Amino acid sequence: MPQIIIVGAGLAGLASALSLRRAGHKVQVFEASQLGFRDTEGTIAQIGPKVNDILKRWGVDAAVARPVLIKAVSEFDHDGAPGATEEAPKPPGWCYYQRSRLHEALLNSATAPTGSGHPVEIISGMKISAIDPEAGLVISQEGQAYHGDAIIGADGWHSISRKTLPLNDTTIPAPAKVTIHLNVDISGHEQNQIVQRFRLQPERYEKWCGANIELKLYSVEPGTILVDTVLPVGSTSGKSSYMFGYTNLAELDICEEYLKDELLKVFGSANSPLKELLDAAEYRDIQFWFYPNLPHVQEWAFRRLVLIGDAAHPFLPCEPPGTSQSITGADALAEALRSDVEMDHIPEHLAAWVIPRKERVKTIQGMERNDWPST
Ligand SMILES: Cc1cc2nc3c(=O)[nH]c(=O)nc-3n(C[C@H](O)[C@H](O)[C@H](O)COP(=O)(O)OP(=O)(O)OC[C@H]3O[C@@H](n4cnc5c(N)ncnc54)[C@H](O)[C@@H]3O)c2cc1C
Repeated sequence: MPQIIIVGAGLAGLASALSLRRAGHKVQVFEASQLGFRDTEGTIAQIGPKVNDILKRWGVDAAVARPVLIKAVSEFDHDGAPGATEEAPKPPGWCYYQRSRLHEALLNSATAPTGSGHPVEIISGMKISAIDPEAGLVISQEGQAYHGDAIIGADGWHSISRKTLPLNDTTIPAPAKVTIHLNVDISGHEQNQIVQRFRLQPERYEKWCGANIELKLYSVEPGTILVDTVLPVGSTSGKSSYMFGYTNLAELDICEEYLKDELLKVFGSANSPLKELLDAAEYRDIQFWFYPNLPHVQEWAFRRLVLIGDAAHPFLPCEPPGTSQSITGADALAEALRSDVEMDHIPEHLAAWVIPRKERVKTIQGMERNDWPST
């Protein structure tokens, strides 16, 4: 039975671990962090019916993952007037998840003592610093080597695994935008119209549209409403709109206070229920991510190493398919790598998995990014 090593226990790593465990493999996952779920980058994942079916088939505990089935999407102008057009309802079966909950549910299923296959072994606090794809070795920062018949590089946006593959050292300038999440405590705001709408119908989300900014409101956890948006920092800040690929936030002088003010400039009409919620957001409840330059990933596999998730196809925080593509990739990986696979043939099975995945992701990224290249 092949021994599989996975580098990274984000959503892609844990989805791969669970899927490969169910296919009968022995799986070890090396994770650099201590795996606190609040570290899961991004807050909401929207997932369609096909991917939800995969999660059900894998036995992921819905009580932990807590999907919110979307039955309605309401649209409003910046001042709270109902939008000119009501967004077409999503096809049945679309859900949104708090990403940390989905992460926790995948970890529970991957490591559960019962269920199909061997429980996955997670080694947290172990940063991998080098990979030898020929020999099937991963090397920890402390210099310890571990052997895997296959190595799955699921180490995200800043992947070390990706850098092992020679053609992956170029980048594409990312747009000058910042993703913002505000987790607003709604206690004391029971009369707020938005709060009341979510009370009456929790299985929904709202879209608020201002000039250049679209803002989405979700309710996953009782007691909070999550505000999720993307701000084009070049144009709204009055600074140059050609600030592509900044990695140094300090250079742009962006902070929670600045972002909240920018949102209030657009959505702060007097008497708007959204203004009340934005005002209530504490700075500590605001998270934001600036887009670094996007890695241009040409190679996904070499010998015993294959990349998955953001390591292979980095999705921006504002691009909903990121999580779904990690899960469908993990599902297909178990099909490509059955437990009776001959050890010598593992590299060609990994290479065969890459071809259709790469095409698919390219198409999806192309649909998301009409004005700049996919990875
Ligand atoms: C800031 C941000 C916000 C996002 N928000 C959303 C969102 O709201 N909704 C959505 O659908 N998608 C979102 N995405 C996209 C989404 O995160 C990904 O497409 C998808 O979930 C891929 O997850 P992953 O497991 O590949 O990567 P990650 O979630 O980044 O996980 C990688 C893991 O590898 C570990 N790791 C890294 N290096 C090493 C190493 N050397 N050794 C060991 N372990 C290592 C990390 O600690 C981490 O746990 C966001 C992306 C970013 C960057």
